[in-house]
Amino acid sequence: MSAQKIAQVVSRLDVPSDEGDLSQQSHEEWIFLNRNTLDMKLLRDIQAALRRIEQSTYGVCAACEEPISAKRLDAVPWAKFCVRCQERIGAETAEFDDDDFDSAR
Ligand SMILES: [Zn+2]
Repeated sequence: MSAQKIAQVVSRLDVPSDEGDLSQQSHEEWIFLNRNTLDMKLLRDIQAALRRIEQSTYGVCAACEEPISAKRLDAVPWAKFCVRCQERIGAETAEFDDDDFDSAR
């Protein structure tokens, strides 16, 4: 789900009776949806990792097919890509600003 799509969902949620609360409520819903989306992504990543274990492809980078380092799998057991590919792909598909997310908690 793109950030723009989430913004559209947020804009359709209940309109508060007090207009002064609008920006605050929208921001809280944004954080909630944002976090929910991240949780869903993590869940999908873990489910995908479990499938890769079944298919004996766990620990192999899905992009370059090189083994993912044990150190990386130790830190991110559901890692689908090696560090190099993750950085390349992550830079292309990043939708959320981690700094904004952390400061909102
Ligand atoms: Zn790779």
